[in-house]
Amino acid sequence: MQSSLIEIASTQSSPVEKRLFAEYGAIFITAATPPPKIMFNDAAEVDAFQALLSVDRAFFGDHEIELQTKALDALGAAASDMAGRGGAITARAADSGSRSYEDTARLWTRNVTRGLQHWESLLRIGAETTQSILKRCPAEQVAAILNLEDAQQLFFGTFFDKSILYSVAAPGASQHLSKLAFDVAEFENVEVKSVLASHGWYRTVPSDLPHFTYLGRDQDALGSMGLECVKRVCGTQEYDFWIPDLARLQMIVR
Ligand SMILES: [Zn+2]
Repeated sequence: MQSSLIEIASTQSSPVEKRLFAEYGAIFITAATPPPKIMFNDAAEVDAFQALLSVDRAFFGDHEIELQTKALDALGAAASDMAGRGGAITARAADSGSRSYEDTARLWTRNVTRGLQHWESLLRIGAETTQSILKRCPAEQVAAILNLEDAQQLFFGTFFDKSILYSVAAPGASQHLSKLAFDVAEFENVEVKSVLASHGWYRTVPSDLPHFTYLGRDQDALGSMGLECVKRVCGTQEYDFWIPDLARLQMIVR
């Protein structure tokens, strides 16, 4: 197994880091430039990282997308392949590629605010809990929200039945901040999935069907680099996701 993912797994010390690594950690094996940590704390950290990246832009359907150059080139090649087969790979929305810290924090804050209102209206939390969470910055809210979910089963996903992480990335942890993720409009097309995989793009976040990540590795190599393939059925289809193989990583770390 590649040493880097083992080392990175071993440096995730807090419960929040471990949880976020389990959700988003596949990105660390990318052949492009991975983020320096699992969660950026603020906009300044994101800006400093993004300033170092080699990036490029291209249109995928109606939207011009910015990604790391290696990721964009591979995505362009996949889109050409798909066009040759009479199909297409296009962006779902204007923010399908790169995002700023503020973009991800805005999405997070929307879910946190709705969830706090929901649970307060059901008298499951008091107004003082709501206020104490809302006055913190988004990065500091992550532990508090995950704790309410784990300890009290007060969930902050869109329908209040699942973790907030099924609806929105933790602020500063979105793979879109690293310019290595792309949300595909044609995500239900199985051929699109295989063409993307042949160019190094894979699903790596189990709750997120349109979301693909540039790993830039052959599928045959992913297991030896510390990932495992999990399958989830959604609707009539089964979807593959490549995620950190925590059991194996921790076995080796210890
Ligand atoms: Zn995405």
